[in-house]
Amino acid sequence: MEKGLIIIYTGDGKGKTTAALGQAFRAIGHGMKICIIQFVKGKRQTGEIITAEKFKKLLEFHIKGRGFIYNTENMEKHLKAGKEAWEFAKKKISSDKYDIIILDELTYLIKYDIVKESEILSAIKDKPEKLHIIITGRDASEGLIKSADLVSEIKNIKHPIQKGIKAQKGIEF
Ligand code: ATP
Ligand code: MG
Repeated sequence: MEKGLIIIYTGDGKGKTTAALGQAFRAIGHGMKICIIQFVKGKRQTGEIITAEKFKKLLEFHIKGRGFIYNTENMEKHLKAGKEAWEFAKKKISSDKYDIIILDELTYLIKYDIVKESEILSAIKDKPEKLHIIITGRDASEGLIKSADLVSEIKNIKHPIQKGIKAQKGIEF
C-alpha cells in the first residue's frame, strides 16, 4: 500500500532544505513528479534551480518568497508575497499532478502569522491520498508536527559561519 506522507525537516542546524532536495533526487530516479515551492528565499541563482532546469520533465521549481524576513519593517511586502505563495501552493496540493510537493521554508508563514496554521493544516489534511508533502524550516509549529508522519530535527553543533567562513557555491547555494 502506498501512503502519502507528511515529512518535516526542522531545527536550527544546516541541512533542512538539502534533505528535502535529496529526497527529490531519489524520487526523480523512480520517475516521480516533484514540485518545489520556496517561500522565503529571494531570487538568488542556486545550484538547485540550475539542476531543476535539467530535469524539467519531472521537477518544477517555483520561487515565491521575497527574501529573508529579518525584521517587521518590510512586513507588508512579505505578507502579500507569503499569502500569494500559499494560495499557489494550495492549488498545487489539490491538483493531484505530483508525487511529491516540497514546501521549503513553509514554517515561517505560520511563525510570522502570514497564514493561519489552521488554514495550512486543513489543506494538508485534504491532500490527495498518495501525495507526499515535505515541509522545511526552523521552529515547526506544534500543529504541523502533530499532523506529520515523519519529523526530523536537525540540531546545530557547528557551522562554518562561526569561523567567519561565508556561504559557498555547492554548499549553501
Ligand atoms: P540548507 O539549505 O543548506 O540545507 P537549511 O535549509 O537547513 O540549509 P535554512 O534555515 O534554510 O537552513 O538557512 C539557509 C542558510 O542558512 C544556509 O545558507 C545555511 O548555511 C545557513 N544556516 C543554516 N543553519 C545555520 C546555523 N546553524 N548557523 C548559521 N547559518 C546557518
Ligand atoms: Mg532551508
